Amino acid sequence: MDHRIPHRFFGWLLLAMLTAAILAVFSLLAWRDLHNRTDAAARRGHDTAWFVARSVSDKVRRFDRELVDLVGRIEMLGDAGFDDADIWDRMIRATRLVPHLRTIGLAAADGRVIRHTDYRNAQTGLSVAGQPYYRLLRAEGGRGLYVTAPFRTSVSSETLLSLVRAVRRPDGSFAGLAVMTISPEAFDLQGAVPNLPPGSSISLHRRDGINLFRVPLLPDLLGEDLSGRELFATALPAAATGLVRDNAGSVAGGERLQAYRALDEWPLVVEVAIPHREIMADWRGDWMHNAWLVGVALVGFSWLAGVIQRQITGRLEMELSIAQIEMAHRRKIEEELRYWATTDSLTGIANRRHFLDLAEREIQRSRRYCRPLSVLVLDVDHFKAVNDSFGHAAGDETLKAIIRVAVSRLRDTDLLGRLGGEEFGVLLPETDLDGARDLAERLRTAIAAQPVAIGETEVRATVSIGCASLAEVEDEEGDALFARADQALYRAKEGGRNRVEGAVWQPRTAPA
Ligand code: GH3
Ligand code: MG
Ligand code: MG
Repeated sequence: MDHRIPHRFFGWLLLAMLTAAILAVFSLLAWRDLHNRTDAAARRGHDTAWFVARSVSDKVRRFDRELVDLVGRIEMLGDAGFDDADIWDRMIRATRLVPHLRTIGLAAADGRVIRHTDYRNAQTGLSVAGQPYYRLLRAEGGRGLYVTAPFRTSVSSETLLSLVRAVRRPDGSFAGLAVMTISPEAFDLQGAVPNLPPGSSISLHRRDGINLFRVPLLPDLLGEDLSGRELFATALPAAATGLVRDNAGSVAGGERLQAYRALDEWPLVVEVAIPHREIMADWRGDWMHNAWLVGVALVGFSWLAGVIQRQITGRLEMELSIAQIEMAHRRKIEEELRYWATTDSLTGIANRRHFLDLAEREIQRSRRYCRPLSVLVLDVDHFKAVNDSFGHAAGDETLKAIIRVAVSRLRDTDLLGRLGGEEFGVLLPETDLDGARDLAERLRTAIAAQPVAIGETEVRATVSIGCASLAEVEDEEGDALFARADQALYRAKEGGRNRVEGAVWQPRTAPA
């Protein structure tokens, strides 16, 4: 059945569209979630950078306060301050009391180390004249804090860095340097790491891009010049705090989100780097799980939809085919009813009522258009004798044989009907009385010439026929026409049977 194909097709189309819609919504949600997670990670990086920056700032201030105090005292005493016993005591005490403060040294204007908490009289002949800070602080006459790149001590092989301030004479000229070495552990960057995704790092840089410290520690990176990286080359000159997505410097490779913040007071920058792959890994894990659920739900739903659809279409098809069968059955019954209502069961020709109906219609038509029309009334001769001699069944066979012969001699437009018993009517449109008589004669001789085989014997039946024609009669009803044919038949019987008689036209008696 053709209607099944679009049914199924639209069902699957609907399912495909639904699946596509679900996948689209799913992808959109996943995509938005990735963005949200990235944003959240960036925010976390920012917060951590802010927190670490504040803590580092506090620590540096703590060290610098010692340094400023020391420089102030020396400056009050002038060049003699470098040799002052009280100042020396303070230096020693500070290295003992201030955590992570390792050494304090004083250098004269020529860079020669005069005092050093590790080498009491500084007999080693140490000089800082070759250090960048020496040249910078002496030449510029600046009073700011200088932070050195980290270095390894030869004694403990510990990584340290120095905080340096210049000592000035009242006239502003350069008198020497106070140098403090500290351990970068003091900044306690490690403390903030647990708040970050795995693989994240926190770095402290000098503003010019020199790496001072990093957790987790990367020894190769200490003291590296990172000024070429995006953070220092473009981001930092534009804003003191922000976010950079960078591929460079990642230990495991891949993009990192770098939240950075420059310290207000000190020439330092805190950088918190979160590997994007960590965010992706979390996100992928969650959404793989979701995809599984959605997939299972989709398959289940498709299956259910298929089952329901099959049930519905199955029932519809069944109901439809039942309806079709019922309709065909009813049509067949109607056809049969119509057939038996119009047909004579023995001979298969029109029954009396149907024949007279059709005849009446044909007579009306012929009268309206002034066309000739004739009728024959045909009666089997001595039929009672056939029944009596050979039985009723043989009589039936004889009637059927006569009808077979008659049908074979008639035109398609002629109409044959059973008027009752062994009496038949023939309607001959477009035929005048002469034509009707000719045809009746041919019928009579053909029937008489055709023997009917009844068992061993043969029956020769003859018929008498009365003819009447409409042509010369005005306003004659069908009944009157058949009555005239009947009269003619009667005359044929009277005249000896097996013969044809035409109706004699008797004009109605005109009023006197
Ligand atoms: P006639 O030459 O004067 O017409 O003589 P008839 O014997 O043919 O006339 P009658 O009217 O006396 O008899 C007709 C008989 O036809 C009576 C009836 O039993 C018989 N007959 C009527 N219909 C049927 C039928 O369908 N089958 C059979 N076998 N006989 C029938
Ligand atoms: Mg008869
Ligand atoms: Mg009869």
